[in-house]
Amino acid sequence: MKQILDNNEKWVADRKAADPDFFNRLANGQKPKYLFIGCSDSRVPASAITGTGPGEMFVHRNIANMVVHTDFNMLSVLQYAVEVLGVEDILVVGHYGCGGVAAAAANKQYGLIDNWLTNIRDVIRVHEREFLRIKNEDERLRRLVELNVIEQVRNLAKTNIIQNARKTSKPPRLHGLVYDIKEGLLRDLQVNDEIGDLDHIYGTEAMKHAEEVFEDQPGFNPQADKGKRVSESEIIAAGKKEHKPSLQKTS
Ligand SMILES: [Zn+2]
Repeated sequence: MKQILDNNEKWVADRKAADPDFFNRLANGQKPKYLFIGCSDSRVPASAITGTGPGEMFVHRNIANMVVHTDFNMLSVLQYAVEVLGVEDILVVGHYGCGGVAAAAANKQYGLIDNWLTNIRDVIRVHEREFLRIKNEDERLRRLVELNVIEQVRNLAKTNIIQNARKTSKPPRLHGLVYDIKEGLLRDLQVNDEIGDLDHIYGTEAMKHAEEVFEDQPGFNPQADKGKRVSESEIIAAGKKEHKPSLQKTS
């Protein structure tokens, strides 16, 4: 522990020598451009591998850089970064050789963490054909690291935080990157961050889609109580323009 405190004192002295106003400036507040969502692995330090210093990057890390929709820690970081700090870019950073990803691919029990790893097993399920086609185990795990990053970027896009931000003039850009520990290099996976053709499922205006799907079916009335069907003549009488369902009214 002494080593840590000694390192800290030396770092303060070096910083002050290079820039006497450095700490005063940081104490006035932060306006980082980036949010980094990475793995807790000690070999993937957010600042070091991106060449960013204090004040430049907001950081959230967990095992295997996951974006889990029931993780209030991650959601709180995301909301604060987007809505208060106004970050411009969000980086989901996975890394080859990730122990969490490897554990998820193995059919073993590790304890509590198995439940967290289930989220990565869901990625395997979605991409099972591609995953199983790769015979070499190292290559299969490397691809799973990439697929996991891709799915976590999509998970970001599914959140109401990002959906709401995209209705503003300056929504943050979403990126998926993978870090190679052996080389020290970051690679941009060029992930398509749109939920695209799944928008009718994850979009927050899903009821509009439901109305389109069912509009030709007589008897469909999204405002009817608990799925109760009404007659076609009642719908005609009410007039189509009257039917403007919202999620609030039907929940
Ligand atoms: Zn990892």
